[in-house]
Amino acid sequence: MNTQLQPTRNDILPPHVDHLSAILPDDPLLMMGAGPVPIPSAVARANSLVINHLGETMAKIITQVKDMARYVFQTRSNWVLGVAGPGSAAMEMAICNLVWPGTRVLSICNGFFSGRMAEMSRRAGADVVTMNEIFPHSMSLERLEALLDEHRPHCLTLVQGETSNTTFNNDVKNIARLAKARGCLVIVDAVCTLSTTPFEMDDWQVDAVITGGQKGLSSIPGVSLLAFSDAAWSRIRERPTPNTHWCLDALLAENFWHKASYHYTAPVSGVLALHEALRLVCEETLPVRFARHLRCSTALQDSIEAMGLSLFAPAESRLNSVVGINLPEGITNQAVCSTISSRYQVEISGSFGLPIVRIGQMGEQCRAHHLFRTVHALGSTMRDLGATVDLPSGMAELENSLQRSKAD
Ligand SMILES: *Cc1c(COP(=O)(O)O)cnc(C)c1O
Repeated sequence: MNTQLQPTRNDILPPHVDHLSAILPDDPLLMMGAGPVPIPSAVARANSLVINHLGETMAKIITQVKDMARYVFQTRSNWVLGVAGPGSAAMEMAICNLVWPGTRVLSICNGFFSGRMAEMSRRAGADVVTMNEIFPHSMSLERLEALLDEHRPHCLTLVQGETSNTTFNNDVKNIARLAKARGCLVIVDAVCTLSTTPFEMDDWQVDAVITGGQKGLSSIPGVSLLAFSDAAWSRIRERPTPNTHWCLDALLAENFWHKASYHYTAPVSGVLALHEALRLVCEETLPVRFARHLRCSTALQDSIEAMGLSLFAPAESRLNSVVGINLPEGITNQAVCSTISSRYQVEISGSFGLPIVRIGQMGEQCRAHHLFRTVHALGSTMRDLGATVDLPSGMAELENSLQRSKAD
């Protein structure tokens, strides 16, 4: 037997690839954009482990992840599931299980992500009607009622926080009430808002809620969570034809998430990371976490205005978990994002076509020391690019605002 290694074909040679340390910056960048966000060290440690995806340890982890997710979603529903994939995979899982050819969907659209829910519904074969209003506070509930009566949708989709243009829908409860009174299921994207601001799945009668790992929960990107109500689960059970998405089929996912058996190999490291992230939320408790987010986001907004910059969203529709800042004349978001990253090692986000930059206030981003560094970096960047800003006033206001809310 020839035990010698076969020579490789020498017309295709291995490429020279840099060691990671040659690619990554010496100082880690501070992740202050619209996600992913910094992760606590306990989450990073959990993410470095690989365990048996069907063993007893994993079964215990899954039980606890579901219990903690119920607290974070504020639901008693049994139907909590996870998915290997981004927030959009959870969104697609919610939609493709509840929507099939012929389903009527009403989509409240006020930006990129709410538009994505409408598009996913269309692709699943639904007859979709959209209600467009960029600033949720100016949305008319009477018009919504008229559309519900006219179109008689099986499902309504909406986003609690539109990360894309930094607007917030603070009327989810009333919107859901109108839909539910007509037997319409309510699907809510809480990807950037969950655990940053109140969300009450049961009290608000939400039938499907989705979230990602890399935003408010401060876990890694790529493992997401969703929950269905009993009414949603009945519709899933009664669907006329099997879901064409095999990986996203909720009834198959039930095998892993509720019966300790196999669907696909779960992203074990990411699930362990999510377990740690959820445990930290439970340890902090939701009311304390919401207060921390409000205090930090308010201080960030106050300091940006004190510096002489203005905010994109009107106060009535402003999202706290991602803050949109108007750009001074002649300055592009590409210039701001690349300068703040290369000179000050802070990452922030541009936007989908709007002349704004966005700074996140989700999970670990809401820490005073990160705010001081970020506000300083933003003001310095604006100055470097030729804008007139009053950076000392911005820094002073950051401190004052944090002190004011501490005294409350
Ligand atoms: C980030 C985000 C998503 C998409 O999440 P991905 O993980 O990028 O797929 C969807 N909706 C909202 C509101 C988001 O903020």
